[in-house]
Amino acid sequence: MTQCIFCQIVNKELPASVVYEDDLCLVFMDIFPIKPGHTLVIPKSHGAFLHELDDKVREHLFIVATAVLQAQRSAGIAKDGANLLVNDGKAANQHVPHVHVHILPRDQGDIGKVAWTFLTRMLNFFGKDKKKVKLDALAKDIRQHLPSTIMK
Ligand code: 5GP
Ligand code: ZN
Repeated sequence: MTQCIFCQIVNKELPASVVYEDDLCLVFMDIFPIKPGHTLVIPKSHGAFLHELDDKVREHLFIVATAVLQAQRSAGIAKDGANLLVNDGKAANQHVPHVHVHILPRDQGDIGKVAWTFLTRMLNFFGKDKKKVKLDALAKDIRQHLPSTIMK
């Protein structure tokens, strides 16, 4: 079994609240969301850094990330805005060494809340099952709003 947790999610060895997948990428809910709707887009092939990916895969990640953002907007999850973010390298706060694009919904004036949750989000290990139900519901909501351009 691979050591990489995101490869394990791709291989279905670890559970995740999946929004979307195709041959090249997988989209699922972040298990420690900074905001409700915090989503990750990852390539199915392993690579720690953006430059390690094929151009085709990198381009596809951002096409899918944009579609997910659009879905979040029409679902009312990211109606004010969102951060699309790649932490590329340990010094840049990358904890999982498998490329991932964060899609972080934002609300006007939420910076204090975002900073607080960023610092405390991993303390909440309790209520894991309840949390999974919530994340599954959000994943379903986003999936249902995905534009037809990426849905086959
Ligand atoms: P990084 O800090 O590497 O940019 O972001 C890694 C993200 O992956 C974090 O936001 C963290 O909450 C999320 N994460 C870590 N382990 C898991 C996991 O097992 N499942 C899911 N769904 N997300 C994870
Ligand atoms: Zn991996």
